[in-house]
Amino acid sequence: MGKVEFNAENVAKCQCVKCPVQAKSECFKNTLRGMQEMMSEDVDIATVIEPKDVPGIYCANGKAVCTDLDTHEICKCGECPIWTEYGLNKGEPGSYFCRDGAAR
Ligand code: SF4
Ligand code: SF4
Repeated sequence: MGKVEFNAENVAKCQCVKCPVQAKSECFKNTLRGMQEMMSEDVDIATVIEPKDVPGIYCANGKAVCTDLDTHEICKCGECPIWTEYGLNKGEPGSYFCRDGAAR
């Protein structure tokens, strides 16, 4: 299991933005809006956006900054191509990276 890289391609593949765990979080919505504004400027987002600006790819960057997530909902990592590609199910924590930290 290699370390998941924080880059534009992987941010685009991440399913966290569609995840019910974050769906009702105002903090998530604000962060997503900010990221979308930065992305509309047509640059390689990984060069201008820092991990804290992205409400996802927690398997690479570690726990979510937002504290109002509902982890009683079902994590969508199992539907993510990165999860399969990197074999994240074989490591810890395996899912709920937003709550439990980066894949290791
Ligand atoms: S495995 Fe989960 S946290 Fe990592 S990129 Fe995919 S959906 Fe996001
Ligand atoms: S890590 Fe899993 S539970 Fe957390 S936001 Fe991403 S898909 Fe949802």
